[in-house]
Amino acid sequence: MTTDTTPIASIEQRLDAIQTVLQRHGMQPTEFIDTFDELAHEHWVPANGAGLIARAWTDPAFKQLLLTDGVTAVREAGLSMPPHHRHFVVLENTADIHNVICCTLCSCTAFTIIGLPPDWYKDLAYRSRVVREARTVLREMGLDLPAQMQIRVWDTTADTRYMVMPQRPSGTEGMTVDQLTALISKDALIGVALI
Ligand code: FE
Repeated sequence: MTTDTTPIASIEQRLDAIQTVLQRHGMQPTEFIDTFDELAHEHWVPANGAGLIARAWTDPAFKQLLLTDGVTAVREAGLSMPPHHRHFVVLENTADIHNVICCTLCSCTAFTIIGLPPDWYKDLAYRSRVVREARTVLREMGLDLPAQMQIRVWDTTADTRYMVMPQRPSGTEGMTVDQLTALISKDALIGVALI
C-alpha cells in the first residue's frame, strides 16, 4: 500500500529500470530508440503532408484522389502509413469552413505524413477545450477567424487519421510544387494556423 510519504522515483530512475528489464528479456531498447528517432526526425516530417497539399493545389485529379481516398493518394505519392491507419481523411478548408484536428483521448496524428504531434496537441487543455470552444482556442493560438466562418473539429481515432487542406493563398499562381510545399506548416496541416 502506498502512502503520501512513499518516495517517487525520478524519470531517470524509471528509465533505467525499464531499460534493465527490457535488456534482461533480450530486447534492444537503445537500437529501437535510435531507429525511431531517425524515422521521426528525418522521414516522418510535415513536408510529406505539405507536398501532398501542394500537388493537390496544382493537379485537380490528384486533389480528387486525395480528398476521396487518402490512403491510395499517399501510396501513389510514394509515402506510407502504418497498417493500423486504415483511413486517411483530408479535410478541405473553404471560404466558409475551417477544419481543425485533435485527439481527445491522447495524441494520435497521421504522424508519417504530418510529423509527430506538437507538445501542445497532447496537452489536456487543447484536447478538452478545442472540441467545446474551438474559436476561442484558435484565437488564443493566434488564429482569429471571422465570426461567419464555420469551424469543424475532427477527433482522431486509432484507425482514422486526418489532415487539413488549407486554402491556397492568392498570389501563388506562378509557384512550383516545391515552392508551394515550403509555404505549408505543420500547424496549418493541423488547422491551428493559416498559410
Ligand atoms: Fe491519440
